[in-house]
Amino acid sequence: MYLVGAGPGDPDLITVRGADVLRRADVVVYDRLSAEALLALAPPGAERISVGKTPGHASAAQADINALLVDKGKAGLEVVRLKGGDPFVFARGGEEAAALRDAGVPFEVVPGITSAIAVPAYAGVPVTHRGVSTSFTVVTGHEAPWAAEETDWEGVARVGGTIVVLMGAATRGAIAERLIAGGMAPDTPVASVQWGTRAEQRTVRTTLAGLGAAPVEAPATIVIGAVAAIDLAWFERRPLFGKRVVVTRARHQASDLVHALRGLGAETVEVPAIEIGEPADGGAALQAAAANVGQFDWVVFTSVNAVGRFVPLLRDARALGGVQIAAIGPGTADALAGFNLVPDLVPEQFVAESLLGAFPAGTGRVLLPRAAVARDVLPEGLTAKGWHVDVVEAYRTIAGDVAPDVLAAARAADAITFTSSSTVTRYLEVAGRDAVPPVVVCIGPITAQTARDNGLTVDAEAEEHSIPGLVDTVVRLMSHD
Ligand code: SAH
Repeated sequence: MYLVGAGPGDPDLITVRGADVLRRADVVVYDRLSAEALLALAPPGAERISVGKTPGHASAAQADINALLVDKGKAGLEVVRLKGGDPFVFARGGEEAAALRDAGVPFEVVPGITSAIAVPAYAGVPVTHRGVSTSFTVVTGHEAPWAAEETDWEGVARVGGTIVVLMGAATRGAIAERLIAGGMAPDTPVASVQWGTRAEQRTVRTTLAGLGAAPVEAPATIVIGAVAAIDLAWFERRPLFGKRVVVTRARHQASDLVHALRGLGAETVEVPAIEIGEPADGGAALQAAAANVGQFDWVVFTSVNAVGRFVPLLRDARALGGVQIAAIGPGTADALAGFNLVPDLVPEQFVAESLLGAFPAGTGRVLLPRAAVARDVLPEGLTAKGWHVDVVEAYRTIAGDVAPDVLAAARAADAITFTSSSTVTRYLEVAGRDAVPPVVVCIGPITAQTARDNGLTVDAEAEEHSIPGLVDTVVRLMSHD
């Protein structure tokens, strides 16, 4: 049994240990505020139990949660109890640990990054600062289940330093009055951060006197004190902050694009429009082509997938010794570099037409391992140049299923990126036209044409037809300034 802190919201803010135990969980018991994206880390077959408490019934529910944890723990399952922030900071992890101890269920506590520190940090407010504040006090503004006695707010006011209030959105006016009554100046700076570390993060700056009337909604972390006047904002200033972008690629391929967009502040919705499957013949033709690769003059790779499927089938790399290699673009060339292969030809523009233009005329044999549904431009053009072309099916693209919550997130997104014609058609197949966000960005002219042919309005094509080029284009279209 693991009591795990999930961090304040950004799923990357879980600890390495927390992610590790989550990946091996049989059962995950989670709260409403813990990042649901983290649940995806658990094995697909793991049981996921939500114990989101209904307000006002916290105590009854807590007894049930304790009993549930004891039950699952006694059954010998790997149980992860996932809690927002840190499990022992206003999260009742202590009560759960005590129930486990009393029932003789062994447990481990995996601390988490508490919102009390991380949320101000994401808003650019340091909770301590040299010459400004030498302490910070973390207090709950919602006393019901916590306090054995009422909080001495006047006493808190006298401590000095920074005051961080959790669960204080509803009671903020009364808290401010009592802190002022305790001697704090009415113009003491306040920074309130809602949905910190998430795409919805919003910071409201006010003063103690203005706090009651300021637009503050839960969940908010309220920072009171001189540090709240410091503004080192970075998270909300990133170019794609607050933008939600749909990414359509085979799941195992999406990560470069997703990382780049998230690094710029976007929230990404990954719609696995394409799954990569075995060729119809189970790969027999590809295997045969690999065994006889020495008989070809050229091998032309038009996708990362083709490289990943074909090259590992070579028994001896020297079989490629007399064979020239072409790659359609830098992504494909990178995939080849992963096998220590340097292409002889990469066209300036990463489209079939450009590859054809750069390809020499000749009478020998060209091997073209690719997807079953790819366009015929390339084999036809190469044939016209005199080559004998063998098209061999390297993989098949299959429409994957999309979970309803992913679809809902896609519908509410600001933009979508398409990285190939097949992502366009598959996306429309699996998600439908009404799940296409207002801004459509395509990796290149062919993809854009496919989008237009399918009735979509294309806002931009990437100038450089590559993932970094696509990302630059999204930034150009979507950034705030
Ligand atoms: N154990 C948690 C705190 C649970 S109490 C932790 O260590 O962070 C829940 C309160 O935490 C909320 O009412 C709010 O005050 C604060 N909080 C949690 N997540 C937050 C977020 N993303 N942004 C702002 N405040 C948050």
